[in-house]
Amino acid sequence: MSELSLQGRTVLVTGGGRGIGRACCQRLAADGAKVAINYRTNAAAARQTEQIIQDGGGTACVVAGDVSSADQVHSMVAEVTEKLGTIDLLVNNAGIFDYAGYAETTPQLWQRTLDVNLTGTYLVTWAVLEGMVERKFGRIVNIASIAGLRARPMSIAYAVSKAGVIALTKSLSEAVAGHNVRVNAVAPGLINTEILNGVSRSALDKLVQATPIPRMGEPSEIADLVAFLLSEQSSFTTGQTLVASGGRVLLP
Ligand code: NDP
Repeated sequence: MSELSLQGRTVLVTGGGRGIGRACCQRLAADGAKVAINYRTNAAAARQTEQIIQDGGGTACVVAGDVSSADQVHSMVAEVTEKLGTIDLLVNNAGIFDYAGYAETTPQLWQRTLDVNLTGTYLVTWAVLEGMVERKFGRIVNIASIAGLRARPMSIAYAVSKAGVIALTKSLSEAVAGHNVRVNAVAPGLINTEILNGVSRSALDKLVQATPIPRMGEPSEIADLVAFLLSEQSSFTTGQTLVASGGRVLLP
């Protein structure tokens, strides 16, 4: 058991089946949380994550749902509550990314990116927030991106969605701080997951070379920060965005 104990707490991780979400699920289970793993399309990956946690002696369940659908989000939250108890901790991790310049940024791409990355974060948060306020306990971590903090000419819609997530984190944190609900974000740089499959090897190499710590990050390096922000080790921290980018956000 890690010292960042989340024993007895229930966490919902959106997009928890693979990538950064899976690493968060594994880490939070190791810290003692009961973990609800949400997925939209990849049930097999979510089941595998559940199995890894159960093999390690942890408690987990899998819940389907598209975070951009209010109806599906409400069913998902009800299902988690029934299976694992009321949700104390939330990781808004589900996200999509397109490597697209301004010419490829169609209304459809713009809308879907904002729907999943920003509205999805809003919908899931609001679906659990009332309960957290009533019970006077809640910890929320939103997965943003350094794209929300710096210019991203090859992913404008994505950058806007993540800037929105950072703004949501700041404003909501002030609104609910008096109810013992903390809201923070993590802004990763380049992390080694399938979301980058649409980016060419040469573009990735260029980005890595421009990173002060010249490599991609691993999902577990993001999960460590998420666990910290959900734990009482960060008890005086809210409304903040922790950057984990190998130093890249510091550069132009
Ligand atoms: P992956 O592509 O590996 O994982 C994305 C996850 O999001 C999957 O579990 C997927 O579910 C889920 N998802 C996508 N759309 C929806 C939806 N509508 N409803 C529910 N779940 C959905 O990417 P990462 O692990 O890298 O990404 C996780 C988060 O980290 C994202 O928010 C991303 O923007 C952010 N991030 C990633 C960076 C990176 O370099 N990897 C950098 C900065 C931020 P399913 O498996 O069912 O399809």
